[in-house]
Amino acid sequence: MKFSDISGYESLKTQLIQSVISDQIAHAQLFLGPEGGPNLALALAFSAYINCLNRTPEDSCGECDACRKNAKLVHPDVHFAFPVSATKKIKAKDVISVKFLSEWRNFVIQDPYNNASGWNNYFGGENKQLNISRQESREIIKNLSLKPFEGLYKIMIIWLPEYMHPAGANALLKILEEPPHNTLFLLVSNDETKLLSTILSRTQIVQIKPFSDEEIKKLLINQHFVEEDKAGQIAHLVDGNINEALRLAREVEDDSHKMFRDWMRLCYVGDLMELTKWTEKFNSMSKVAQQTLFHYGLSMMREALIVSNNELELSRLMGEELEFVKNFSKILSLQSIEEISDILNEAYYHIERNAHSKILFLSVSLKISEIFKKLKMLSKA
Ligand SMILES: [Zn+2]
Repeated sequence: MKFSDISGYESLKTQLIQSVISDQIAHAQLFLGPEGGPNLALALAFSAYINCLNRTPEDSCGECDACRKNAKLVHPDVHFAFPVSATKKIKAKDVISVKFLSEWRNFVIQDPYNNASGWNNYFGGENKQLNISRQESREIIKNLSLKPFEGLYKIMIIWLPEYMHPAGANALLKILEEPPHNTLFLLVSNDETKLLSTILSRTQIVQIKPFSDEEIKKLLINQHFVEEDKAGQIAHLVDGNINEALRLAREVEDDSHKMFRDWMRLCYVGDLMELTKWTEKFNSMSKVAQQTLFHYGLSMMREALIVSNNELELSRLMGEELEFVKNFSKILSLQSIEEISDILNEAYYHIERNAHSKILFLSVSLKISEIFKKLKMLSKA
Protein backbone atom coordinates (compact mmCIF):
# COMPACT_ATOMS: atom_id res chain seq x y z
CA MET A 1 0.00 0.00 0.00
CA LYS A 2 1.38 3.37 -1.04
CA PHE A 3 0.08 6.72 0.17
CA SER A 4 -1.00 7.43 -3.40
CA ASP A 5 -3.32 4.39 -3.29
CA ILE A 6 -5.49 6.31 -0.85
CA SER A 7 -7.16 9.34 -2.35
CA GLY A 8 -7.26 12.58 -0.34
CA TYR A 9 -5.72 13.07 3.12
CA GLU A 10 -2.87 15.15 1.74
CA SER A 11 -2.00 17.08 4.91
CA LEU A 12 -2.09 13.97 7.09
CA LYS A 13 0.17 12.13 4.63
CA THR A 14 2.59 15.05 4.67
CA GLN A 15 2.62 15.04 8.45
CA LEU A 16 3.40 11.29 8.58
CA ILE A 17 6.07 11.57 5.89
CA GLN A 18 7.64 14.53 7.66
CA SER A 19 7.95 12.55 10.89
CA VAL A 20 9.98 9.91 9.01
CA ILE A 21 12.17 12.40 7.16
CA SER A 22 12.95 14.33 10.33
CA ASP A 23 13.48 11.09 12.24
CA GLN A 24 10.84 11.93 14.81
CA ILE A 25 8.46 9.01 14.57
CA ALA A 26 6.41 8.62 17.74
CA HIS A 27 6.95 5.08 18.99
CA ALA A 28 3.28 4.41 19.77
CA GLN A 29 0.60 5.90 17.56
CA LEU A 30 -3.14 5.44 17.47
CA PHE A 31 -4.67 5.74 13.99
CA LEU A 32 -8.15 6.70 15.06
CA GLY A 33 -11.19 7.28 12.87
CA PRO A 34 -14.70 5.99 12.30
CA GLU A 35 -15.40 2.63 10.66
CA GLY A 36 -15.38 2.58 6.86
CA GLY A 37 -12.46 4.99 6.55
CA PRO A 38 -8.82 4.52 5.57
CA ASN A 39 -7.38 4.04 9.09
CA LEU A 40 -5.73 0.70 8.41
CA ALA A 41 -4.79 1.67 4.85
CA LEU A 42 -2.96 4.76 6.12
CA ALA A 43 -1.14 2.75 8.79
CA LEU A 44 -0.04 0.27 6.10
CA ALA A 45 1.10 3.05 3.77
CA PHE A 46 2.99 4.63 6.66
CA SER A 47 4.76 1.40 7.57
CA ALA A 48 5.62 0.80 3.90
CA TYR A 49 7.05 4.31 3.75
CA ILE A 50 9.14 3.71 6.87
CA ASN A 51 10.54 0.47 5.42
CA CYS A 52 11.00 1.61 1.81
CA LEU A 53 14.61 1.48 0.63
CA ASN A 54 14.05 4.08 -2.03
CA ARG A 55 11.49 6.52 -0.71
CA THR A 56 10.89 9.98 -2.11
CA PRO A 57 9.63 13.04 -0.20
CA GLU A 58 6.11 12.11 -1.46
CA ASP A 59 5.73 8.36 -1.16
CA SER A 60 7.29 4.92 -0.92
CA CYS A 61 8.71 3.67 -4.24
CA GLY A 62 6.41 0.64 -4.55
CA GLU A 63 9.18 -1.30 -6.31
CA CYS A 64 12.01 -2.05 -3.90
CA ASP A 65 12.30 -5.36 -2.08
CA ALA A 66 10.74 -3.90 1.09
CA CYS A 67 7.82 -2.37 -0.83
CA ARG A 68 7.13 -5.62 -2.65
CA LYS A 69 7.04 -7.49 0.65
CA ASN A 70 4.88 -4.83 2.26
CA ALA A 71 2.41 -4.96 -0.62
CA LYS A 72 1.89 -8.65 0.16
CA LEU A 73 1.95 -7.98 3.93
CA VAL A 74 4.91 -10.35 4.31
CA HIS A 75 7.67 -7.96 5.39
CA PRO A 76 9.52 -9.78 8.21
CA ASP A 77 9.68 -6.63 10.34
CA VAL A 78 6.00 -5.80 10.14
CA HIS A 79 3.81 -7.79 12.52
CA PHE A 80 0.08 -7.88 12.87
CA ALA A 81 -2.31 -8.55 15.71
CA PHE A 82 -6.06 -8.46 15.10
CA PRO A 83 -9.27 -9.80 16.62
CA VAL A 84 -10.10 -13.44 15.92
CA SER A 85 -12.38 -16.12 17.30
CA ALA A 86 -12.67 -19.90 17.29
CA THR A 87 -13.62 -21.53 13.98
CA LYS A 88 -14.49 -25.06 12.91
CA LYS A 89 -10.79 -25.75 12.40
CA ILE A 90 -9.16 -23.65 15.13
CA LYS A 91 -10.12 -24.21 18.74
CA ALA A 92 -10.62 -21.42 21.25
CA LYS A 93 -7.40 -22.10 23.15
CA ASP A 94 -5.30 -21.75 19.98
CA VAL A 95 -6.91 -18.56 18.78
CA ILE A 96 -4.16 -16.08 18.02
CA SER A 97 -3.58 -13.88 14.97
CA VAL A 98 -0.69 -15.82 13.52
CA LYS A 99 -2.98 -18.83 12.87
CA PHE A 100 -5.12 -16.62 10.65
CA LEU A 101 -2.33 -14.74 8.95
CA SER A 102 -2.79 -15.94 5.38
CA GLU A 103 -6.55 -15.25 5.46
CA TRP A 104 -5.86 -11.88 7.01
CA ARG A 105 -3.40 -10.94 4.26
CA ASN A 106 -5.88 -11.82 1.52
CA PHE A 107 -8.69 -10.03 3.32
CA VAL A 108 -6.73 -6.80 3.72
CA ILE A 109 -5.22 -6.87 0.24
CA GLN A 110 -8.68 -7.33 -1.28
CA ASP A 111 -10.26 -4.56 0.74
CA PRO A 112 -8.24 -2.51 3.24
CA TYR A 113 -11.33 -0.53 4.26
CA ASN A 114 -13.39 -3.50 5.43
CA ASN A 115 -14.48 -3.90 9.05
CA ALA A 116 -14.66 -6.38 11.93
CA SER A 117 -17.84 -8.09 10.80
CA GLY A 118 -16.49 -8.35 7.24
CA TRP A 119 -13.39 -9.99 8.69
CA ASN A 120 -15.45 -12.37 10.84
CA ASN A 121 -17.39 -13.51 7.75
CA TYR A 122 -14.20 -13.81 5.75
CA PHE A 123 -12.32 -16.18 8.03
CA GLY A 124 -15.41 -18.17 9.02
CA GLY A 125 -15.66 -17.13 12.68
CA GLU A 126 -18.66 -18.93 14.08
CA ASN A 127 -20.41 -15.80 15.32
CA LYS A 128 -18.40 -16.01 18.49
CA GLN A 129 -17.15 -12.84 20.07
CA LEU A 130 -14.05 -11.58 18.30
CA ASN A 131 -11.19 -10.90 20.61
CA ILE A 132 -7.49 -10.18 20.98
CA SER A 133 -6.56 -12.58 23.75
CA ARG A 134 -4.11 -12.47 26.66
CA GLN A 135 -2.04 -15.03 24.86
CA GLU A 136 -1.85 -12.64 21.90
CA SER A 137 -0.25 -10.01 24.13
CA ARG A 138 2.42 -12.52 25.09
CA GLU A 139 3.01 -13.23 21.38
CA ILE A 140 3.34 -9.51 20.68
CA ILE A 141 5.95 -9.07 23.39
CA LYS A 142 7.82 -12.17 22.19
CA ASN A 143 7.82 -10.99 18.56
CA LEU A 144 9.19 -7.61 19.49
CA SER A 145 12.02 -8.97 21.59
CA LEU A 146 13.97 -9.82 18.41
CA LYS A 147 16.06 -7.34 16.44
CA PRO A 148 14.70 -6.09 13.12
CA PHE A 149 15.59 -8.50 10.30
CA GLU A 150 15.84 -6.18 7.32
CA GLY A 151 14.66 -2.69 8.15
CA LEU A 152 15.56 -0.10 10.68
CA TYR A 153 12.34 -0.63 12.59
CA LYS A 154 10.14 -3.40 13.83
CA ILE A 155 6.54 -2.39 13.41
CA MET A 156 3.60 -3.90 15.27
CA ILE A 157 0.23 -3.04 13.76
CA ILE A 158 -2.65 -3.83 16.10
CA TRP A 159 -5.93 -3.65 14.21
CA LEU A 160 -8.94 -2.86 16.38
CA PRO A 161 -7.33 -2.83 19.85
CA GLU A 162 -10.84 -2.19 21.20
CA TYR A 163 -11.21 -6.00 21.02
CA MET A 164 -8.33 -6.57 23.42
CA HIS A 165 -8.88 -8.55 26.55
CA PRO A 166 -8.34 -6.05 29.43
CA ALA A 167 -5.70 -8.25 31.03
CA GLY A 168 -3.97 -8.52 27.64
CA ALA A 169 -4.12 -4.75 27.18
CA ASN A 170 -2.64 -4.27 30.66
CA ALA A 171 0.16 -6.66 29.80
CA LEU A 172 1.12 -4.36 26.91
CA LEU A 173 1.28 -1.14 28.93
CA LYS A 174 4.92 -1.49 29.86
CA ILE A 175 6.13 -2.26 26.34
CA LEU A 176 3.95 0.54 24.93
CA GLU A 177 5.53 3.00 27.31
CA GLU A 178 9.09 1.81 26.85
CA PRO A 179 9.28 -0.22 23.66
CA PRO A 180 12.50 -1.99 22.71
CA HIS A 181 14.87 0.06 20.59
CA ASN A 182 13.56 0.82 17.08
CA THR A 183 10.11 -0.60 17.71
CA LEU A 184 6.93 1.12 16.57
CA PHE A 185 3.38 0.43 17.61
CA LEU A 186 0.63 1.46 15.21
CA LEU A 187 -2.76 0.87 16.80
CA VAL A 188 -5.67 1.20 14.38
CA SER A 189 -8.99 1.87 16.07
CA ASN A 190 -12.56 2.93 15.30
CA ASP A 191 -13.58 3.72 18.84
CA GLU A 192 -11.39 5.29 21.48
CA THR A 193 -14.15 5.06 24.11
CA LYS A 194 -13.59 1.29 24.19
CA LEU A 195 -9.86 1.60 24.85
CA LEU A 196 -8.32 1.62 28.31
CA SER A 197 -7.35 5.13 29.30
CA THR A 198 -3.90 3.77 30.14
CA ILE A 199 -3.52 2.70 26.49
CA LEU A 200 -4.79 6.02 25.21
CA SER A 201 -2.42 8.00 27.39
CA ARG A 202 0.54 6.05 26.01
CA THR A 203 -0.19 6.67 22.35
CA GLN A 204 0.00 9.68 20.10
CA ILE A 205 -3.33 10.07 18.33
CA VAL A 206 -3.42 10.34 14.55
CA GLN A 207 -6.98 11.53 13.94
CA ILE A 208 -8.43 10.29 10.64
CA LYS A 209 -11.51 11.93 9.23
CA PRO A 210 -14.08 9.86 7.34
CA PHE A 211 -13.78 9.84 3.53
CA SER A 212 -15.29 12.88 1.86
CA ASP A 213 -18.37 12.36 -0.34
CA GLU A 214 -16.17 12.97 -3.37
CA GLU A 215 -13.70 10.24 -2.32
CA ILE A 216 -16.53 7.76 -1.66
CA LYS A 217 -17.90 8.51 -5.10
CA LYS A 218 -14.51 7.96 -6.73
CA LEU A 219 -14.02 4.67 -4.88
CA LEU A 220 -17.45 3.39 -5.92
CA ILE A 221 -16.88 4.30 -9.56
CA ASN A 222 -13.25 3.31 -9.98
CA GLN A 223 -12.95 0.26 -7.75
CA HIS A 224 -16.47 -1.10 -7.57
CA PHE A 225 -17.81 -0.12 -11.00
CA VAL A 226 -20.89 1.66 -9.69
CA GLU A 227 -22.43 4.09 -12.19
CA GLU A 228 -21.61 7.73 -11.68
CA ASP A 229 -25.09 9.03 -10.79
CA LYS A 230 -25.78 6.21 -8.39
CA ALA A 231 -22.32 6.59 -6.81
CA GLY A 232 -22.91 10.30 -6.25
CA GLN A 233 -26.24 9.75 -4.58
CA ILE A 234 -25.04 6.92 -2.36
CA ALA A 235 -22.01 8.97 -1.33
CA HIS A 236 -24.42 11.59 -0.06
CA LEU A 237 -26.07 9.16 2.34
CA VAL A 238 -23.24 7.34 4.09
CA ASP A 239 -21.20 9.90 6.04
CA GLY A 240 -17.94 8.82 4.48
CA ASN A 241 -18.32 5.12 5.32
CA ILE A 242 -17.23 3.06 2.29
CA ASN A 243 -18.56 -0.20 3.75
CA GLU A 244 -21.98 1.32 4.21
CA ALA A 245 -21.79 2.71 0.66
CA LEU A 246 -21.06 -0.76 -0.76
CA ARG A 247 -23.87 -2.29 1.29
CA LEU A 248 -26.30 0.28 -0.11
CA ALA A 249 -25.07 -0.28 -3.66
CA ARG A 250 -25.69 -4.03 -3.31
CA GLU A 251 -29.06 -3.50 -1.67
CA VAL A 252 -30.32 -1.25 -4.45
CA GLU A 253 -29.16 -3.87 -6.95
CA ASP A 254 -30.97 -6.74 -5.13
CA ASP A 255 -34.18 -4.74 -4.81
CA SER A 256 -33.98 -3.91 -8.50
CA HIS A 257 -33.95 -7.57 -9.44
CA LYS A 258 -37.05 -8.42 -7.40
CA MET A 259 -38.88 -5.37 -8.55
CA PHE A 260 -38.02 -5.77 -12.22
CA ARG A 261 -39.06 -9.44 -12.17
CA ASP A 262 -42.44 -8.71 -10.54
CA TRP A 263 -43.01 -5.67 -12.70
CA MET A 264 -42.44 -7.64 -15.92
CA ARG A 265 -44.91 -10.30 -14.71
CA LEU A 266 -47.56 -7.63 -14.18
CA CYS A 267 -46.87 -6.18 -17.63
CA TYR A 268 -47.12 -9.66 -19.11
CA VAL A 269 -50.52 -10.42 -17.63
CA GLY A 270 -51.55 -6.83 -18.36
CA ASP A 271 -52.86 -6.17 -14.86
CA LEU A 272 -53.67 -2.47 -15.25
CA MET A 273 -55.12 -2.09 -11.78
CA GLU A 274 -51.98 -3.44 -10.13
CA LEU A 275 -49.69 -1.48 -12.46
CA THR A 276 -51.47 1.72 -11.48
CA LYS A 277 -50.82 0.87 -7.83
CA TRP A 278 -47.19 0.30 -8.67
CA THR A 279 -46.85 3.87 -9.92
CA GLU A 280 -47.19 4.95 -6.26
CA LYS A 281 -44.54 2.47 -5.24
CA PHE A 282 -42.23 3.70 -7.99
CA ASN A 283 -42.91 7.31 -7.08
CA SER A 284 -41.87 6.68 -3.47
CA MET A 285 -38.48 5.28 -4.52
CA SER A 286 -35.37 7.45 -4.50
CA LYS A 287 -34.21 8.74 -7.87
CA VAL A 288 -31.16 6.50 -7.66
CA ALA A 289 -33.36 3.42 -7.10
CA GLN A 290 -35.64 4.45 -10.00
CA GLN A 291 -32.70 4.84 -12.34
CA THR A 292 -31.16 1.62 -11.11
CA LEU A 293 -34.40 -0.23 -11.88
CA PHE A 294 -34.35 0.91 -15.51
CA HIS A 295 -30.66 0.36 -15.81
CA TYR A 296 -31.03 -3.10 -14.33
CA GLY A 297 -33.85 -3.79 -16.79
CA LEU A 298 -31.56 -2.81 -19.64
CA SER A 299 -28.88 -5.21 -18.48
CA MET A 300 -31.53 -7.97 -18.26
CA MET A 301 -32.45 -7.26 -21.90
CA ARG A 302 -28.83 -7.63 -22.90
CA GLU A 303 -28.73 -10.94 -21.04
CA ALA A 304 -31.99 -12.04 -22.71
CA LEU A 305 -30.34 -11.39 -26.06
CA ILE A 306 -27.34 -13.52 -25.06
CA VAL A 307 -29.63 -16.36 -23.97
CA SER A 308 -31.75 -16.09 -27.14
CA ASN A 309 -28.60 -16.34 -29.23
CA ASN A 310 -27.52 -19.43 -27.30
CA GLU A 311 -24.36 -17.75 -26.06
CA LEU A 312 -24.75 -18.65 -22.40
CA GLU A 313 -21.00 -18.62 -21.87
CA LEU A 314 -21.10 -14.83 -22.31
CA SER A 315 -23.65 -14.38 -19.54
CA ARG A 316 -22.50 -12.91 -16.25
CA LEU A 317 -25.58 -14.11 -14.42
CA MET A 318 -26.05 -16.91 -11.93
CA GLY A 319 -28.82 -18.46 -9.85
CA GLU A 320 -32.16 -16.71 -9.59
CA GLU A 321 -31.28 -14.03 -12.13
CA LEU A 322 -30.16 -16.52 -14.76
CA GLU A 323 -33.31 -18.62 -14.29
CA PHE A 324 -35.42 -15.51 -14.67
CA VAL A 325 -33.68 -14.47 -17.88
CA LYS A 326 -33.92 -17.97 -19.35
CA ASN A 327 -37.67 -18.06 -18.76
CA PHE A 328 -38.13 -14.47 -19.83
CA SER A 329 -36.26 -14.92 -23.09
CA LYS A 330 -38.58 -17.81 -24.04
CA ILE A 331 -41.46 -15.38 -24.52
CA LEU A 332 -39.40 -12.60 -26.14
CA SER A 333 -38.54 -12.19 -29.81
CA LEU A 334 -35.35 -10.46 -30.87
CA GLN A 335 -37.40 -7.52 -32.06
CA SER A 336 -39.25 -7.22 -28.77
CA ILE A 337 -35.98 -7.28 -26.81
CA GLU A 338 -34.84 -4.35 -28.90
CA GLU A 339 -38.12 -2.48 -28.41
CA ILE A 340 -38.14 -2.95 -24.62
CA SER A 341 -34.49 -1.90 -24.44
CA ASP A 342 -35.32 1.33 -26.27
CA ILE A 343 -38.22 2.04 -23.92
CA LEU A 344 -36.09 1.45 -20.80
CA ASN A 345 -33.22 3.45 -22.18
CA GLU A 346 -35.44 6.40 -22.89
CA ALA A 347 -37.06 6.13 -19.44
CA TYR A 348 -33.63 6.14 -17.80
CA TYR A 349 -32.81 9.47 -19.40
CA HIS A 350 -36.24 10.93 -18.59
CA ILE A 351 -35.64 10.21 -14.89
CA GLU A 352 -32.33 11.97 -15.15
CA ARG A 353 -34.12 15.02 -16.52
CA ASN A 354 -36.57 14.93 -13.60
CA ALA A 355 -39.59 13.67 -15.50
CA HIS A 356 -42.81 13.19 -13.51
CA SER A 357 -42.11 9.73 -12.20
CA LYS A 358 -45.71 8.46 -11.82
CA ILE A 359 -46.67 9.35 -15.39
CA LEU A 360 -43.40 8.03 -16.72
CA PHE A 361 -43.69 4.69 -14.94
CA LEU A 362 -47.27 4.14 -16.07
CA SER A 363 -46.48 5.01 -19.67
CA VAL A 364 -43.45 2.69 -19.71
CA SER A 365 -45.58 -0.09 -18.18
CA LEU A 366 -48.29 0.36 -20.80
CA LYS A 367 -45.81 0.32 -23.68
CA ILE A 368 -44.20 -2.87 -22.42
CA SER A 369 -47.63 -4.49 -21.79
CA GLU A 370 -48.52 -3.66 -25.39
CA ILE A 371 -45.41 -5.46 -26.65
CA PHE A 372 -46.26 -8.56 -24.60
CA LYS A 373 -49.81 -8.48 -25.94
CA LYS A 374 -48.54 -8.55 -29.52
CA LEU A 375 -46.15 -11.40 -28.68
CA LYS A 376 -48.99 -13.43 -27.19
CA MET A 377 -51.14 -12.85 -30.30
CA LEU A 378 -48.29 -13.89 -32.57
CA SER A 379 -47.68 -17.06 -30.63
CA LYS A 380 -51.36 -18.00 -30.88
CA ALA A 381 -51.50 -17.27 -34.61
ZN1 LIG B 1 10.28 1.01 -1.78
